[in-house]
Amino acid sequence: MSEACPLCGAVSTEGKTCEEIYHEFLALEFTDPDYGRVHFLTVACYMIQHEGYSDESYVWVESALRKYLQEGWPISMIREDAARGPGRDKGVRRPADAPHLPKIAWSMTIADVAAQMHDAESYCRLIEQWGHAALKEMGPLVVNNP
Ligand SMILES: [Zn+2]
Repeated sequence: MSEACPLCGAVSTEGKTCEEIYHEFLALEFTDPDYGRVHFLTVACYMIQHEGYSDESYVWVESALRKYLQEGWPISMIREDAARGPGRDKGVRRPADAPHLPKIAWSMTIADVAAQMHDAESYCRLIEQWGHAALKEMGPLVVNNP
């Protein structure tokens, strides 16, 4: 019997934590370029759903996801944009003392990808689907700082 993830609400069918699944996914992506081509989305979605980003970085990643998924920006341009983004002078990660974010009933989590993927093609398709869901549902996490 697995417990739901306190951050994203996922329940892994294999009793793994989201973090364990995430590390398995990253290992796949680093060793096989067929998996690695969705790396940006994997990291973004995981961080978005686990209070991973600073407020500034939530603003940045929302626009980056929109550019990548909806406007067709190539990943090289997203990386250049990231180099100029909030990660440039401050960390992208959420500080430990930052306020908690609202809980969102995500329609898709990393556990859904893990349960349904069976090869590189299905993996990339599911990660893209996860990216679209995260972009659509992340609104309450994006605080527009002055
Ligand atoms: Zn989780």
